[in-house]
Amino acid sequence: MPDMKIAFLASEVIPYAKTGGLADVAGALPKFLSRLGSEVRVFMPFYREVRARNLPLRTAIGQAALDTPGGKKEYSVLEHRADGFSVYFIARDEYFDRDCLYGTAAGGDYPDNGERFAFFARASLEAMRGVGFSPDVVHGHDWQSASAFAYLKFVLADDPFFKKAGSLFTVHNLAYQGLFGREVLAAVGLPERLFNMNDLEFFGKVNYMKAGILYAAAVNTVSPRYSREIQTPEFGCGLDGLLRWRSHALSGILNGVDYADWNPTTDKLIPARYSPADLSGKAGSKAGLLAMFGLRDEPRIPVAGMVTRLAGQKGVDIVCEALEDIFRLGLKVVILGTGDKKIQDFLTEAKKKYPGRLGLMIAFDEKVAHTIYAGSDFFLIPSRYEPCGLTQMYSLKYGTVPVVRATGGLDDTIQDFEPQAGTGNGFKFEEASAAALVSCLRRALDVYARPDQWLTLTRNTMAADYSWTRSAGEYLKLYGKIKERS
Ligand code: ADP
Repeated sequence: MPDMKIAFLASEVIPYAKTGGLADVAGALPKFLSRLGSEVRVFMPFYREVRARNLPLRTAIGQAALDTPGGKKEYSVLEHRADGFSVYFIARDEYFDRDCLYGTAAGGDYPDNGERFAFFARASLEAMRGVGFSPDVVHGHDWQSASAFAYLKFVLADDPFFKKAGSLFTVHNLAYQGLFGREVLAAVGLPERLFNMNDLEFFGKVNYMKAGILYAAAVNTVSPRYSREIQTPEFGCGLDGLLRWRSHALSGILNGVDYADWNPTTDKLIPARYSPADLSGKAGSKAGLLAMFGLRDEPRIPVAGMVTRLAGQKGVDIVCEALEDIFRLGLKVVILGTGDKKIQDFLTEAKKKYPGRLGLMIAFDEKVAHTIYAGSDFFLIPSRYEPCGLTQMYSLKYGTVPVVRATGGLDDTIQDFEPQAGTGNGFKFEEASAAALVSCLRRALDVYARPDQWLTLTRNTMAADYSWTRSAGEYLKLYGKIKERS
């Protein structure tokens, strides 16, 4: 389907604004789809941090307004030409000229997020019309874009411009659903009758994610295993029944990696470059990493790195609990992350308690992240659940051995290393517990201690190919099916 026209709606997109993996996907997938011949246009909010980038922008729509129950709300649309596709920024300062994307560490989520992101979704649909881009498929990502599917079904149902548009909703993380008071429906111009269990009501709230799951023609998640997991009560976050009901329309497509950004042979953000054929730069990167975190340069002491949101999902608390045992095994640990205040406080104290053993930065920093991928020996991902997980795929490329819990996309991408056969690309454990993590690390260290096995494992990790090309091809097939049906 080389002539597909796809409209992407995403609340974060690299390199403009990022808090997690969604941004990586929304920045890379359009590039690969366009290489396969599709025309992709991406719509995202014009946040303060996007403005601060001083990009070369063209005004696509100078002045427009949405008719909302609260009166006319003006916005403009700015266009940036990215690598093979256009990005349209929805600009309305009242909503998007703020310090953060979704909320602040101190104050929590912005109280008007329901209105902000419904406005983004509705204005994006109007912007498509405004720039004359009539999509074959509207592809929305996560709850921030999901209200678009309610507008398409209930407000724009008879609109000839969208008559032929199919729709796809991608769940990147089911735990974040966008829950708001029932008054939000009237405020954003959606029918109040949708406040019922079979539509958008969810335990007394309006659930934006339900709009994507219910009203998009197809729904997918970012790994095959996660698409099955979310149909169970354990992972379904209260929506498993609904997802089972929609299972005929639900699939899983593994995220990919943009190796133009994530490749130790070319990466300008890491201390020393290297390749599978010449790994010497990996030692240089390790030295650079240790220096960056103020740790002594002891090349033979293994380092386990983490780059992560500090959230219960990511199992950072499991690492906290296991920390003493991990140090007893002889490892150093380096953590870069932001998030949960309790975890931050625990780690800040632990850093004082274990000087020279624990490196910690509470920050969001791309260069430090790349340095950890390159300079660590192991990469820890003890997630309780993981829709796909990109960090294990990045660390593989950098020859850094993932130690992961067997869940979601982690289970789909990591195969346990078998020393005898020389197969596998990491280490997996089943139980979400400190004991299981430590025992898995013990196995990993046995291999680290045997240079021939370690070299085989390192080569295996670097040989893993999770390029976007394959996944983009799967998305194209899915778009094709959706288009046929619409
Ligand atoms: P999630 O989206 O659930 O946070 P993913 O593994 O899908 O998890 O993606 C996380 C992305 O965010 C990766 O690109 C990772 O490098 C990046 N990241 C997470 N925390 C930080 C941080 N503190 N600094 C820089 N990058 C980070």
